[in-house]
Amino acid sequence: MADQLSGASRAAASDIPSLDRLLNAEALRPALDAHGRTQVVAALRRELDALRRRALDGELPRHELDAAAVAARTSAALDKAAQPRLRAVYNLTGTVLHTNLGRALLPDEAVASVLRALTTPANLEFDLDSGGRGDRDDLIDDLLCELTGAEAATVVNNNAAAVLLMLNALADRREVVVSRGELVEIGGAFRIPDIMKRAGAKLVEVGTTNRTHAADYDNAIGPRTAMLMKVHCSNYAVTGFTKSVGVAEVAAMAHARGLPATVDLGSGTLVDLTQFGLPKEDTVRETIAAGADLVTFSGDKLLGGPQAGLLVGRADLIRKIKKNPLKRALRVGKLTLAALEPVLHLYRAPEFLAQRLTTLRLLTRPLRDIQPQAERLRGVLAHAAGPGYAVEAVPMFSQIGSGALPIDQLPSYGLAVRHAGSGRPGRHLDRLETLLRRLPVPVIGRIADDALWLDLRCLEARDEADFSAQLAEPLA
Ligand SMILES: *Cc1c(COP(=O)(O)O)cnc(C)c1O
Repeated sequence: MADQLSGASRAAASDIPSLDRLLNAEALRPALDAHGRTQVVAALRRELDALRRRALDGELPRHELDAAAVAARTSAALDKAAQPRLRAVYNLTGTVLHTNLGRALLPDEAVASVLRALTTPANLEFDLDSGGRGDRDDLIDDLLCELTGAEAATVVNNNAAAVLLMLNALADRREVVVSRGELVEIGGAFRIPDIMKRAGAKLVEVGTTNRTHAADYDNAIGPRTAMLMKVHCSNYAVTGFTKSVGVAEVAAMAHARGLPATVDLGSGTLVDLTQFGLPKEDTVRETIAAGADLVTFSGDKLLGGPQAGLLVGRADLIRKIKKNPLKRALRVGKLTLAALEPVLHLYRAPEFLAQRLTTLRLLTRPLRDIQPQAERLRGVLAHAAGPGYAVEAVPMFSQIGSGALPIDQLPSYGLAVRHAGSGRPGRHLDRLETLLRRLPVPVIGRIADDALWLDLRCLEARDEADFSAQLAEPLA
């Protein structure tokens, strides 16, 4: 490089403008207004250091020292660093409750409530009737009891925390009997045996992976048993030659020995989903009615609310849980409660739920909406993808996600992109997938079977124009 620059066009270190001169340059005014002097000075120092190194190497062309050019590079670097890391994306993966993409989307009522809680003081732990201190659980426990039939309820940061707290509060240094078929791992870091250990409880596994009988539980009960526990299999299904024992039977056995039966429902739904044409999933109310003394479930899976772990059940057990010091460590903040209350309220009017609860609206979105959308967007994507790519509007299947009903699939519609060129199609698909991911609002699909699949279930009508707009030009 060095010998390509002639003496006249090569800048020396002494030609580099001073920091002060650059700070006063008109071209840096917008950066100073947007980012402040501290950031601009730091960025200019980095820029000047780099220029100096290149000048000493004899590789610095003179025109790069122009104040406008230095300002433009500095501003670009500052703008890039100021971009939020948490970005909005289009979830076209076909998985509605996608853990890596933030799970449930909140309905407008919850958004308004969070905004209020963010910007005004609120009675988070203040009893407006007595003027004395309140308990933050009071804000939602009546609603949870009404919706589940439980005697009492409490909330923590997520369902993993709910399970940890429940085990520590009710089974510290004692035994918990669980079927081998239910020792699940959920998304890497949550494994029932590990949580059990951290909670101080001793796991007693019964039965085999595919078959557990009532007698297996019964024979495992001893003087150190704290509870019988059932865990929803969530992200996998045991099929074929299988046998498991239902909540009612496990609860009856536990109760006969004076022990509680607990259930980690995982996703946990508050309504019978079959009324919306979705697959059957036991509700929290049914689980309580079957005899469970305590049920834990997530706030941001099928429930469609904020990240939270809900515990509902017998009043004496909830009291014990609330006295455990871990409860304080795992408690929810006001934003969670602000979001959760309006979501729970929506469940009081099941007639409107499929329209008002975003998660359910997406899960029940009819093909007659999705298919024409796929046909409308086919040409848009084909133009954006450019020559070599073939885009088709095709039927596909969405998944609920987050461990809910892992084998049931929802008929959906979307776009399948294939590459016609010779050689490995994977390379072209990877390239297109990357370009879509680099858009201002990244588009996330999935590659399978030599095609890139974009499931349109989660692209609601109100977002379609913005989606098309950023695909107006061919992707570079
Ligand atoms: C998802 C899940 C959890 C963990 O819930 P988080 O809310 O993600 O902490 C625990 N148990 C089961 C059965 C689950 O499906």
